[in-house]
Amino acid sequence: MTTGQDNIFSDAIRRLDGAATFAEIDGEALEKLSHPKSILQVSIPVRMDDGSLRVFQGYRVRYDDTRGPTKGGIRFHPHVNLSEVKALAFWMTCKCAVVGIPFGGGKGGVIVDPKKLSRMELERLSRGFIEQVADFIGPETDIPAPDVYTNAMIMGWMMDEYSKICRQRTPAVITGKPIPLGGSLGRDDATGRGAYYCIKELEKLKDWQPANVHVAVQGFGNAGQHVARLLHADGYRIVAISDSRGGIFRAEGLDVPRAIQLKNQGRAVGAVYSGRSVCECPVCGDDDCNCSRDEAGTGDVITNAQLLELDVDVLIPAALENQITADNAGRTKAPVVVEVANGPTTSGADEILAKLDTLVVPDILANAGGVTVSYFEWAQNRAGYYWTQDEVQDRLKQIMAREFNAIYELMTNHGINMRTAAYVQALNRIGEAIESQGTSRYFLNGADST
Ligand code: NAD
Repeated sequence: MTTGQDNIFSDAIRRLDGAATFAEIDGEALEKLSHPKSILQVSIPVRMDDGSLRVFQGYRVRYDDTRGPTKGGIRFHPHVNLSEVKALAFWMTCKCAVVGIPFGGGKGGVIVDPKKLSRMELERLSRGFIEQVADFIGPETDIPAPDVYTNAMIMGWMMDEYSKICRQRTPAVITGKPIPLGGSLGRDDATGRGAYYCIKELEKLKDWQPANVHVAVQGFGNAGQHVARLLHADGYRIVAISDSRGGIFRAEGLDVPRAIQLKNQGRAVGAVYSGRSVCECPVCGDDDCNCSRDEAGTGDVITNAQLLELDVDVLIPAALENQITADNAGRTKAPVVVEVANGPTTSGADEILAKLDTLVVPDILANAGGVTVSYFEWAQNRAGYYWTQDEVQDRLKQIMAREFNAIYELMTNHGINMRTAAYVQALNRIGEAIESQGTSRYFLNGADST
């Protein structure tokens, strides 16, 4: 991966400094938050289908558990590295505080290209990872969930493996599970839906007419597809979407349900990854062809770089981190960026976007719907009592709207950007918890008074 990727953790931590000025947080609490609580690196031996043995490297980071058990996804990706997992775990800590749920932050990852594994190899790798981290996780300590290239089925295998190790069924150890294995209704679209609720609050504040709002979505996986689907259903014009192979653009707006159907078509029931791309022509199946794609309603092929620079009203990065950087931020034209991916904008890019007066709805707020419904899933598992989809969505909407508006108000009151305001909100809540355990102020004052 890039050098930027290696520095992703230090870049993430830099955001604390800007927010600390406006937050009510003790210096000691800030120092504590600058370091992960514990890191586990594991080697996972996997017997491959051809009989050979491969050893994969994986990580689990528990960043801070002052506000509750650590919580965060597991990523399967060839570019996973420790700096990235630490940054993702730090963001989870802040995200859980932003939405006020009783969790700290954690994250895990395995260095692997999962699309090159067979389903059985993928299952053995998923179970092998849990075997290696079983002492590190648990319903009261650290609760994983899906992230990039992991999904409900993988969470089901992982929960099953943990339950076998503990010799008792333990659904609350992991969230994002299939419904029959203790998953929550409404978890599958929760990340995209949470971002959608943020956009609906913006719609009220800015008096938007959806048909006039042009949207580009980078990344058409779980999070990207759902936010695009919900906005499209409300009449927003989704003019561009993309995946790792590239994107498509249509000025009049894309037929999103059809794009979702085409993208997922290659996926047989129960298969893990779609072999298809949004840029495949629906007529001939090629990425690069002379068919009349516009007639087919699928628009022109564009690159991911072009998508980020489109003249749209809302840009939604929903793929990976480090997409809007100091190199391309100056060429972005969208006045509003809603960060559905984690860390899509570097701190260098933030400075440029601020000069352009771009409103960035930050990742730790915009994509917090996923962990919020994961919290609901964990609570349902522990209670053994399950909610309806309407209950899940109503509670998610309440939380997202409440925190969006609180952060928007903080931004306006302090004259800061929305990312800094979100960190201020997180720091206030985390700082309060750390200070409740006592800081030098308490201990030194105590010593003085004796
Ligand atoms: P996913 O695996 O379902 O989808 C990822 C998508 O991104 C795929 O369409 C893939 O083709 C595309 N992609 C990969 N590399 C790309 C590139 N270089 N350019 C453009 N597209 C690329 O993953 P997801 O769960 O949708 O996660 C996407 C982002 O959202 C990640 O940053 C993840 O951390 C974040 N997120 C996800 C959740 C969740 O609940 N799934 C929650 C919070 C945050």
